[in-house]
Amino acid sequence: MGKKSKKKRQICHTQADGSRTMDSRPASMDVLSTWSSDSAPSLLFTADTERLVINVPEGWQRLCVEQKIKIGKVDAVCLTHLGPSAVGGLPGYQLTAYDAGLRKTILRGPEGLRGYAASTRHFLNREDLEIDVEEVSDEEERGAGLLRVRAIVVEDEDVPSEPVAKKPKTVSSKSVSYVIKTPDVLGRFDVAKAKALNVPPGPLYGALKRGEAVTLDDGSVVQASQVVGATTSGACVLALFVATPGALQRLRSKLQAFLTGSASLDCIVHVTPPQIAASEAYVQFARSFPSSIQQLWTQAGASPFRTAARDAKLLARVAPDCYTSDVAEATTEDAWRGPGVRVETTGRFTLVPRSQAGYVAPEVVEDDLEAEWNEVKERGLDAALEGVEKAKTTEVPSQLQHAAASLCFLGTGSAMPSKHRNVSGIYLRCAAETTDVSDPGRGLLLDCGEGTLGQLRRAFGNRADECLRSLGAVWISHPHADHHLGLPSLLAERKRLAPDEPPPVLMAPWPVLRWLGDYAAVYAPLMDTYVPVECQWMKEGAPHPQQQRLTDDLHLSKCFCVPVPHCAQAYGVVVKSIDGWSLCYSGDCRPSSKLAAAARDCTVLIHEATFSDGLEDDAVKKRHSTISEALGVGRDANACRTVLTHFSQRYPALPEGLGDTGAVVASDFLRLSFPQLAWAPSLVPALRCLYGDDDDEEATGVLF
Ligand SMILES: [Zn+2]
Ligand SMILES: [Zn+2]
Repeated sequence: MGKKSKKKRQICHTQADGSRTMDSRPASMDVLSTWSSDSAPSLLFTADTERLVINVPEGWQRLCVEQKIKIGKVDAVCLTHLGPSAVGGLPGYQLTAYDAGLRKTILRGPEGLRGYAASTRHFLNREDLEIDVEEVSDEEERGAGLLRVRAIVVEDEDVPSEPVAKKPKTVSSKSVSYVIKTPDVLGRFDVAKAKALNVPPGPLYGALKRGEAVTLDDGSVVQASQVVGATTSGACVLALFVATPGALQRLRSKLQAFLTGSASLDCIVHVTPPQIAASEAYVQFARSFPSSIQQLWTQAGASPFRTAARDAKLLARVAPDCYTSDVAEATTEDAWRGPGVRVETTGRFTLVPRSQAGYVAPEVVEDDLEAEWNEVKERGLDAALEGVEKAKTTEVPSQLQHAAASLCFLGTGSAMPSKHRNVSGIYLRCAAETTDVSDPGRGLLLDCGEGTLGQLRRAFGNRADECLRSLGAVWISHPHADHHLGLPSLLAERKRLAPDEPPPVLMAPWPVLRWLGDYAAVYAPLMDTYVPVECQWMKEGAPHPQQQRLTDDLHLSKCFCVPVPHCAQAYGVVVKSIDGWSLCYSGDCRPSSKLAAAARDCTVLIHEATFSDGLEDDAVKKRHSTISEALGVGRDANACRTVLTHFSQRYPALPEGLGDTGAVVASDFLRLSFPQLAWAPSLVPALRCLYGDDDDEEATGVLF
């Protein structure tokens, strides 16, 4: 962070009549993301060096990395509601911002925001991090700098007129629309005119610029209007969010009052979810505004995660027998009936100078999959695939002959999401009626980093809903943010899709369960979405509290945790199937003989391998493992197959030293049945062709 300059040049002035003006500095609104199959809208308002963000949805940092958007410090974050599509990326951003030196954040949002912010204390516990929480209400203007904000708050659900007998367990949910206003822009100070009127340069110039009249030494009075051009009024944008049909009615009347009493709007940007925004009532409402107001729509955009989409498509060609997906990319040609313009990620609306006000769409870059495919081939794919074919001819060991069991890697990177690798998430199919790899069957999710739901959608395509509905359990290894921030959206979506099914068993360290419980108290869709089991009680030999369900749903005879050396409440897990296979997943840790002993003779060991060999010191310091250390645990455990994952983001593509390890190298979207694990180590050269040496990104530091 730059040091604060003591002599900060003044660009915002309070006029004699109390109104605010600023020198002409550019101000704009950038579209950071829109609604799509795996994203939600986020807007960045900039005036001079001041920045204000509306919503930090899940996947926010990753989309900034992908789009090479450099955000820098954010002065205030305004949240339209408390769901993952508004706040899901906030803890991750705050951790990154803290590491970059930012110590203060202002959060504005509806009632319940204080509770939400408090719920994150288990993983945002930095002593010197100051988070100012402002639960907004109507009327008050917020912000001390150039960007002033007024909130319009509405209840989402109809408030019962009679008091209900049963005390509600959560606060009623509210959503907020924001009016963002820049100061009026001062007219140009005409030095020539001032000179002609004999005004000496110095403080009198300043006074005139502020709109004051000045008296010269000869007693004559010069009015500001004699030397300063006319002031133009500031820009005013309404970011509109409506959560329910009922809320639309309430907002309509509030807005009417607001618009008659306040300045005129230049632009309305609709961040309302598509299902509400597409309703007849909403479109009618939008049409009721005068045509002088520019309307922008975020509802039918394309996914901002282009690299993930590309990787998934190319992987389906490189390894068609272990990956198929038919994820429906949002077609941007969807007929949009609202008046105005449909906006896209990285589009910009200029606010000031007013003469240039308007929306400029981003340059369209068409994905050329064929060209990309040719590049992959030029890197030697044919030879690599020959190796794979050869490996397939060797016999599958009997331990791996369990075709109903399979693994799908949803995120294989450590700490922060990057273009190719999302943060941790592994779907273990435990039981299935068919051996078809695209069949999600019934499964267990091992870790659930931010963005896991979106990755699952991309991995399972149109069978993703099926996968969520039959998700039997989720297991979380430890309370680090890269392993659990994806839970709220995933659990809420599971509940929405299967409201009558018993919720999945959530086995997690207590700080994670405490966070979710606190979050559910202010965000109703999270309530009753899981059956909690604390990892610390899942000991080998002890009866599992949900054993019957694990056996019935997932064919598991055993599921127990092993404490591992990483941080407080860090665990590995061992699962044993009644079908005869077993699997151990390390979570994050140093190599552990206890874990190796607990995993003894397992069918599959999935072990973290954050660092390449040679970085042993980093591994010790950060309490992770190197590739060789992970392989050592596999040998000690006598695992039939070892799978390496959780690679440091210092390796945007593939870390070195993975060639002849005999281990499977996990990469996002790779889906392997247990028999396929027999030849899967041979995929490494093919994966290298897929990624190339994509080192053009700085994995961290893109935000700052
Ligand atoms: Zn991790
Ligand atoms: Zn960790």
